[in-house]
Amino acid sequence: NLYNMVQDLKGNIRVYCRIRPSFSPETKNMIDFIGEDGTLVILDPLRPQKEGKKVFQFNRVFGPTATQDEVFKDTQPLIRSVMDGYNVCIFAYGQTGSGKTHTMSGPPGGSMKDRGINYLALNYLFQLSNKRKDVINYDIHVQMVEIYNEQVRDLLAEDSSTTKLEIRSCTSDNGFCLPDATMRTVKSTTEVLNLMKFGEVNRAVSSTAINNRSSRSHSVLTVHVHGEDISGNILRSCLHLVDLAGSERVDKSEVTGDRLKEAQYINKSLSCLGDVIMALAQKNSHIPYRNSKLTLLLQDSLGGHAKTLMFAHGSPEEDSFGETVSTLKFAQRVS
Ligand code: ADP
Ligand code: MG
Repeated sequence: NLYNMVQDLKGNIRVYCRIRPSFSPETKNMIDFIGEDGTLVILDPLRPQKEGKKVFQFNRVFGPTATQDEVFKDTQPLIRSVMDGYNVCIFAYGQTGSGKTHTMSGPPGGSMKDRGINYLALNYLFQLSNKRKDVINYDIHVQMVEIYNEQVRDLLAEDSSTTKLEIRSCTSDNGFCLPDATMRTVKSTTEVLNLMKFGEVNRAVSSTAINNRSSRSHSVLTVHVHGEDISGNILRSCLHLVDLAGSERVDKSEVTGDRLKEAQYINKSLSCLGDVIMALAQKNSHIPYRNSKLTLLLQDSLGGHAKTLMFAHGSPEEDSFGETVSTLKFAQRVS
């Protein structure tokens, strides 16, 4: 169909926008229109007339009432293609509080209601693996790391504080990987839930000195799929599920020291990610993967035959107009 053809021309990069529900009834809502075709119109609170309308176009827009299942339904074909041997990368981008963790993990606390893409994706991988078990034998392994200030930390290690990981080139899947990060074989969604909980606790523990660190680091859940069919053919692929650090601009006149350093690392890695995706979309011959740890680690699932999906998250309250516009512009630039 035409949609897939257009996607192929774009090098398999797609961008979905998600606007979360408003939490403050006293603040005005700036969402003007959400179209079935991926159009989003927001209103500049300072210029509420016609010229204050900003129009954006994405592959899809999910409004405040969209459920986790609806979002997953449009993500499912990508997850399926992991089982067919494609590498896939899914990102959540947006300012802190815009709903990235909700989309990827679900609400805090880990209840079964409203689980996010991470869980739904693994659940679906298990279903497919089971359905195909007479023809292909699949093994599924996961790793979970955090990238903070350009350092990679193992979230599944028993003592994660001591392990700083090196990203190395891997001959097996001609990309880069983390050979020293804990790799866990998973066979059921219960195991996955327990691992994710463990990783999330590990991530939170380190935030004693630094307040709310999770919004200032990237978390990467990597699912490695290994399949072998009855004639002994091997299939290898991976799925990266990435909850990015908050994209908000930090006022350099107000922060110093560690906080400024953090902000600079985040700016750098997010802009590297944008540069890589844009270079891929434009089919440039040089793709600057090496400019950040994040893009280096994800190299084998960005570009080539890999499929990339970015969720651009926005808050509907008009006091986040500036940040939301900057997120939407970033996302539109790469789509
Ligand atoms: P981020 O990870 O971008 O900082 P969160 O995912 O933590 O943002 O979202 C901020 C708050 O909004 C959380 O309490 C979260 O549960 C809630 N939230 C985000 N998106 C939605 C949504 N689509 N529906 C309901 N609640 C949401
Ligand atoms: Mg978050």
